[in-house]
Amino acid sequence: MSAPRDQHFLIDPSAVERILSCIEVGGCRILEIGPGRGILTRALLDRGATVVAVELDYALCRTLESLFSPEISRGRLLLVQGDAVRCALPPFEKVVSNLPYSVSSRITFRLLDVGFSEAILMYQKEFAERMVTKPGTSGCGRLSIMAQTYAEIEPCFEISPQSFNPMPKVRSLVLRLIPHEPRFPLVDRTRYNDIVRVLFSHRRKTVRNGLKSLRGSLGSEHLEYLLSQIPEDILSSRPEELQLEDFALLANAGLKP
Ligand code: SAH
Repeated sequence: MSAPRDQHFLIDPSAVERILSCIEVGGCRILEIGPGRGILTRALLDRGATVVAVELDYALCRTLESLFSPEISRGRLLLVQGDAVRCALPPFEKVVSNLPYSVSSRITFRLLDVGFSEAILMYQKEFAERMVTKPGTSGCGRLSIMAQTYAEIEPCFEISPQSFNPMPKVRSLVLRLIPHEPRFPLVDRTRYNDIVRVLFSHRRKTVRNGLKSLRGSLGSEHLEYLLSQIPEDILSSRPEELQLEDFALLANAGLKP
């Protein structure tokens, strides 16, 4: 069993130090998701950041309110009790968080959608490794493609389970994310997201066969037309052999720029 609400609190000051050595926070408005007992929050405030902290747990919010009451009354900390997957997010520039692992994916894509200049985020190690697996290499998947379409992602360092209380069963990896516009222009982002999802839900099939599952939504005629627009070497590849450029070409096929 993992802890309720993914609550594994950092207790290792050197890990906090390393996280904050990766990013300039002084004078910035930082979003922190899941502040927990406030170890990162305190370090961010000490370095001159203004913090917006979103915490789901009611009891932890009450604890944070009393721990940080001077900073809250001076407007240096805005505490929001809510679910970071769906609650309104006040404006922010950068993100520093030890993310709740069960919602890492939804939070990451939400953040990329909202926009920010830089993020230092801690993930479960296997998840983080999938985020940085290069397109065209084995093990790359929907998460790798979607994340790397919208951001530059760089591994920073690992944090061992001993740095947390309670100790998690998994290892953690800290990543830096710098969002950018897709390198290969997309006519319709929803279409792109759908194509990437469909292809990786049939990851052992060739692109040609994977795309056939779109027959229902596109209609046979339109599907045949799309297939005729796509080079044969892409159609006969498997999704993990494709580059970002190829996914863009597949998603843009038949659409006017
Ligand atoms: N940042 C703290 C705590 C990390 S544990 C530290 O490093 O010590 C993850 C935190 O995320 C917990 O406090 C948990 O209550 C909170 N959390 C879990 N799901 C959440 C969600 N959907 N939205 C906001 N916070 C969430």
